[in-house]
Amino acid sequence: MRRCKTSRRVLLLAGFAAALLGRPAATQDTAKITAAATFSILGDLVRQVGGDRVDVVTLVGPDGDVHVYSPTPGDAKKLADARIVFVNGLGLEGWVTRLVKASGTRTPVVTVSNGITARKMEDAPGHLVIDPHAWQSVANAKIYVANIRDGLAAVDPAGKATYDANAAAYLGKLDRLEKEVHAAIARVPADRRRVITTHDALGYFGDAYGLKFIAPERVSTDSEASAKDVAKIIAQIRREKIPAVFLENITDPRLMNEIARETGAAVGGTLYSDALSPPGGPAANYIEMMRHNARELTKALAR
Ligand code: ZN
Repeated sequence: MRRCKTSRRVLLLAGFAAALLGRPAATQDTAKITAAATFSILGDLVRQVGGDRVDVVTLVGPDGDVHVYSPTPGDAKKLADARIVFVNGLGLEGWVTRLVKASGTRTPVVTVSNGITARKMEDAPGHLVIDPHAWQSVANAKIYVANIRDGLAAVDPAGKATYDANAAAYLGKLDRLEKEVHAAIARVPADRRRVITTHDALGYFGDAYGLKFIAPERVSTDSEASAKDVAKIIAQIRREKIPAVFLENITDPRLMNEIARETGAAVGGTLYSDALSPPGGPAANYIEMMRHNARELTKALAR
């Protein structure tokens, strides 16, 4: 609808007055709120529930590493400007607590993993920590969605019906996704459901759908694997009869080919664990990410 100049000026004045009174200028039914999310996967879930009522700002974007992120002063402002902040919790974003403090914001912070059953993971040999990657099981993502829905309704009660409807529709999609991933993995013969991977983020996926992810035995610990590492991995694949490997720290195609040639194991493509792909990529949102991973894994294991 088009407004004439006079009414716009009146609205501006009304907005100014409302700002002085600490109230939003627009009526509560139509005002958009801003929500901040710490990383791209969570940002997508908030967008699904918030729909048109919520502008979502994400601190760590597609392909970013949420574990080792260094927040910028701009991020503190994003938090201060938001009406609500969503974090994963479970130790994923250690930096966020300091950032919330630094921003001086009293914005409510919602930990979306509240209510899930956390699993443990090994971060060093024999040293167990809480595994923060709970979203890798769709059942957990549903709990995230319920927490997001309730958080948004608490800061924006006028939008409750919208958030309820959006969440219900999205939860329906997640139900279908969950059945789909279960069915896809179930088609892989039980004795082939083993993968060597450098991704330590897929434990919830493995527990939920019955896949075993095994860490490669390595010689060196720097990020790019050496020829010596590869020899060790080849021995491990043969010994444990592993049908497929997904190794994100081997980018040299010659080493990849060597593994495939020497062992007959399938060398899989890219799996997305901690971040979405940029828009237009194979994992531009949560549902696409889970579908993509299930497809890559079953493709490699079916060979
Ligand atoms: Zn991770």
